Amino acid sequence: MALTRVESIAGLPLFYDRFNGTSYGQHAVAMRPFIDNNFLDQCTACFAEMQQVLAKHGFEITQIWSGGVGREGAGVSYHHRNRAFDLDALIFKDGSRWLADTFPARPFIYLAIEAVLRLHFGTVLNHDYNQAHRDHLHFDNGTAPRFKRDARSHTLFVQHALVKLFNQSVGADGVFGPETEQALNRVRRTLGIGSFSDKSNWFAFLQEVAGTALDYERSIVVAPDLVA
Ligand SMILES: [Zn+2]
Repeated sequence: MALTRVESIAGLPLFYDRFNGTSYGQHAVAMRPFIDNNFLDQCTACFAEMQQVLAKHGFEITQIWSGGVGREGAGVSYHHRNRAFDLDALIFKDGSRWLADTFPARPFIYLAIEAVLRLHFGTVLNHDYNQAHRDHLHFDNGTAPRFKRDARSHTLFVQHALVKLFNQSVGADGVFGPETEQALNRVRRTLGIGSFSDKSNWFAFLQEVAGTALDYERSIVVAPDLVA
């Protein structure tokens, strides 16, 4: 495997925020990971699109904070092959930031970011996938980007989108049962999007999720008595 050492992706500088027990999301140092060349090309396309999509809604990304790319040793994970990325945070031009562990409190921007990752990567492990992924979005290029209903993380993502963006009442359990299928069919019909067995329809859904989620994120209002 051919590796390239980078300090930025799509023009966005990379930072590492796991150098001590409290640095996550708070403090970071410049990071220069070695990344597999094919994976780097995919990351570049992904973060370029993420910049574009978020900027349309006023979030101008200036930095990417990561918990790591490559991993030392003889393991067999995609991190050991420099083909996986742990996304912890994005920093924006106005000084605000998005942190991956804020999904319960701040689901919309999380879903938008996850949707853009899914446009480029088949494997994206999200907040509810398991305890280990509560504080970062893991993505790798072990599988091609398409919808797999038997993949727990894919179904969790779809269920979260159905509930939080499209007013459907389904349980977010990661199991693609009849309720989830019916709710998804209703939403797809409303959006004019065909079956996900055609991956262009999956991509259309992901675009729709990203735009809708960011509209919601930007439309949150603060109660008058809480305005300083
Ligand atoms: Zn990871």
